[in-house]
Amino acid sequence: MALMGQMMAGSLLISSLIKHAARHAAETEIVSKRVEGDLHRYTWRDAELRSRKVAQALAGLGCQAGDRVATLAWNGYRHLEIYYGSSGSELVCHTINPRLFPEQIAWIANDAQDLVLCFDLNFLPLIEKLAAQMSSVKHFVLMTDRAHMPAQTGINELLCYEELVEAENGDYDWPEFDENTASSICYTSGTTGHPKGAVYSHRSSVLHAYGSALPDAMGCSALDVILPVVPMFHVNAWGLPYSCALVGCKLVMPGPHMDGKSLFELFENEGVTFSAGVPTVWLGLLTYMKANQLKFSSFKRTVIGGAACPPAMMRTLEDDFGVEVIHAWGMTEMSPLGTLSKLTARQMSLPTEAQRRLLEKQGKVIYGVDMAVSDDEGNELPWDGVSSGNLLVRGPWVIKSYFGQTGSPLVSLNGQPGWFPTGDVATIDSYGFMQITDRSKDVIKSGGEWISSIELENIAMAHPAVFEAAVIACAHPKWDERPLLVVIKKPDAELSREQLLEFFEGQIPKWQIPDDVVFVTEIPHTATGKIQKLKLRDQFRTYRLPGLPTV
Ligand code: ADP
Repeated sequence: MALMGQMMAGSLLISSLIKHAARHAAETEIVSKRVEGDLHRYTWRDAELRSRKVAQALAGLGCQAGDRVATLAWNGYRHLEIYYGSSGSELVCHTINPRLFPEQIAWIANDAQDLVLCFDLNFLPLIEKLAAQMSSVKHFVLMTDRAHMPAQTGINELLCYEELVEAENGDYDWPEFDENTASSICYTSGTTGHPKGAVYSHRSSVLHAYGSALPDAMGCSALDVILPVVPMFHVNAWGLPYSCALVGCKLVMPGPHMDGKSLFELFENEGVTFSAGVPTVWLGLLTYMKANQLKFSSFKRTVIGGAACPPAMMRTLEDDFGVEVIHAWGMTEMSPLGTLSKLTARQMSLPTEAQRRLLEKQGKVIYGVDMAVSDDEGNELPWDGVSSGNLLVRGPWVIKSYFGQTGSPLVSLNGQPGWFPTGDVATIDSYGFMQITDRSKDVIKSGGEWISSIELENIAMAHPAVFEAAVIACAHPKWDERPLLVVIKKPDAELSREQLLEFFEGQIPKWQIPDDVVFVTEIPHTATGKIQKLKLRDQFRTYRLPGLPTV
């Protein structure tokens, strides 16, 4: 008979994270740039007390275990309190992305059956328009104080967040319950069809916080000052609100103020050492800093993910600004972290150039995630760095089903069920470094061969006159699809189509070089700041490549 361990039981609950921070990092600061425009500072001890008051206030509104509390909010202390106050009291925190189309926001709130909706002041006009369509929402809470409450509003019985919180005494014990209980919901952006909800559990969130804070992952420490640029509505800011509590570090939140100047000032004034965000957010910050010849004084490391980080951006951050870039890959369905690009002892003796090429990949899995690439029949492909196939993952913070959907999204690998198909096409090399070629729907299929749009974008981004680049498939009568390069030039830069195409020569096989270049002033982005390939393809659906007859 098995001998049972004799250790204390204890559920991995999200409330334990903030309890830990309040007890062991009590005086450590949380600084937020408020929607109202000013800077707010308090400590983890204050945050935990106010989270308890939020839990009391939500109970006072009639919320019961399992009820959904939605947020439409930027990164800030009130949002953090709702994270902990709702999940910690057995409610489910549903972060909604305010950059989605209004009708999608209403659709998601209805799909999740949200009971309460808490929203930042600047979303008041939006919610005034949408409130009537959100049929499940019984309580609308404006995340501000009495002084900023509107004199008149179309929303019935609009509640004031600060009044709700301050009416409570904080005399509340975080409840103990099953760690597999749902803690939060995040919807995918729904680039194809309706968005789908990923339901995280307390257990998955705490394990993810542990795993992602490890030195070879994000490497979060109590000595760090962490500023998540990635929004709390984009897969829980990649878990940082949890991992910062777990390590007890200072947390800095930019609110809606994400322009280069505001971000730079916050980084400098608060001594930020570590940050995380999608590639596009760095474009604005770096352009501002270059134009004003600025340097960081404390900022040392950043995780860039959510979309491929162009190697040229890594070089600029590292060589010109002294910031180490950790390239990461993940997705909503994975809480989100899957892989990060960090060298191990095995690669230490490699030449610098070879190390750089490895670090440009999406990286190695962290413990907690298992991955494989498979062919279309579900057979595993070798880890040789060239065999590319469907990227599959599994692990305790990977979803097994979507909210409210019957049927399993999981597939088999070598006949063994239980793998989540990511929809990404990738290679894995003998070191275990994974590289994304493309999302399967973005890959360019030319004459039966695949061309990686990411690889072409990375080359274009390395041209000094290019600000942003996107490559999409364009219909071709002979080859089926050929690559079209869409580019925004840097302000005042001189660059012709021919010069840019010449730049590709010698860097990739000739047949992969884009057939044409289009210069634009804007490239569409998704609600999470990624290039919106679907929209771009729509925009250029009737585009005729050079040499083809017009229809
Ligand atoms: P959505 O963009 O649909 O809202 P996610 O934010 O979950 O959903 O995006 C996940 C997808 O983003 C991944 O499947 C992958 O295609 C892409 N992605 C994330 N990180 C990277 C990266 N470092 N390099 C390339 N693609 C990435």
